[in-house]
Amino acid sequence: MKQVLAKAAFAALVSTAVSLLLVLTIVPAVGGVVEGNALVMSILCPLVIAFPASAYLFHQKRKLADALAALTMAHKRLARAHAELAEAHARLSEKARHDDMTGLLNRESFLDALKTSRRRTDEGALLIIDADHFKRINDTHGHAQGDVALLMIAEAIRNGVREGDLVGRIGGEEFAAFLAGASEAEALLVAERIRLGVEALRFSPGEGKYLPLSVSIGAARVSPHLSWSQMMREADSRLYEAKARGRNRVVFGAPGTQAAA
Ligand code: GH3
Ligand code: MG
Ligand code: MG
Repeated sequence: MKQVLAKAAFAALVSTAVSLLLVLTIVPAVGGVVEGNALVMSILCPLVIAFPASAYLFHQKRKLADALAALTMAHKRLARAHAELAEAHARLSEKARHDDMTGLLNRESFLDALKTSRRRTDEGALLIIDADHFKRINDTHGHAQGDVALLMIAEAIRNGVREGDLVGRIGGEEFAAFLAGASEAEALLVAERIRLGVEALRFSPGEGKYLPLSVSIGAARVSPHLSWSQMMREADSRLYEAKARGRNRVVFGAPGTQAAA
C-alpha cells in the first residue's frame, strides 16, 4: 500500500509540475497574466484529481498483478497435481496388472499380453507350469509355509525364462510363460531349466527339515493355425499328461510324442 501511495504522490507531483509549466507558458503566450488564484488552481486541481485517480489506478494494477501471480501459482500447483495423478494412475494400473503376491503378471494381463504377442509372432511356445502336490504342503505345514514355497517357485520360474519372456500367475499354484520366437529346442531348454530350478530349491518348512519341491510343465508350440486359446488348451493337455506320468516333468508336442523327465 505504501508503494501505491508513493507512486500516486509521484504522479500527482508530476501532474502538478506539468500543469504549472503549461499555465506559466501558455497563459503569457496568449497575452494573459498568471495571477494568484490561477496559480493556486493550477497547483490544486492536478493535486486533488491526480493523487486519488493515480492511487486508485496503481491499486487496481497491483491487485491485477497479485491476481495474476496467484493464478500462475495455482496453475503450477494444478500442473504438479496433474502430473502426480498421472504418475499414481500409471503406478496403480501397473500394480493392477500384477499379482500382489509374486509380482508376476496376473491371469488377465498375461492372457492380454499373450494375445498381443501371439498376433505378432508365429514362432514360440507356451508353457503351463503347475506346482506338484501343493495341497500337501499346505495341509502339512500350513498356508503361510505354502506361500513361502510358492514365492520360491515363482522366483525359480522368473530365473528360468529368457529376458523378455512373458510370465504370469494364472491360478493359485499355476503359472504360465510365453516364449515368443523360441524354437522347440529353446523352449524345451527353458522348460527344463525351470523344472530343474524348482527341483534345486531348498525349501524348509521349519525344524531344519527340507521339503522337495517340483513342478510339472505342459508346453505347446505356436503354430499359425492355433489361436491363443487353443494353445492354452493344448499346453493344458500336455500338463495333464505330465501329471499322469508321475509329475516333475516337461511334456511338449503332440500327445505322447515328446517328453522329458
Ligand atoms: P497336483 O500335483 O495334481 O497339481 O496337486 P496339487 O495339490 O498341487 O493340486 P490341487 O489342485 O489339488 O491343489 C492346489 C493347492 O494349491 C490347493 C490350494 O490351497 C493351493 N494354493 C493355491 N493358491 C495358493 C496360495 O496362494 N497360497 C497357498 N499357500 N496355497 C495355494
Ligand atoms: Mg498343483
Ligand atoms: Mg493347479
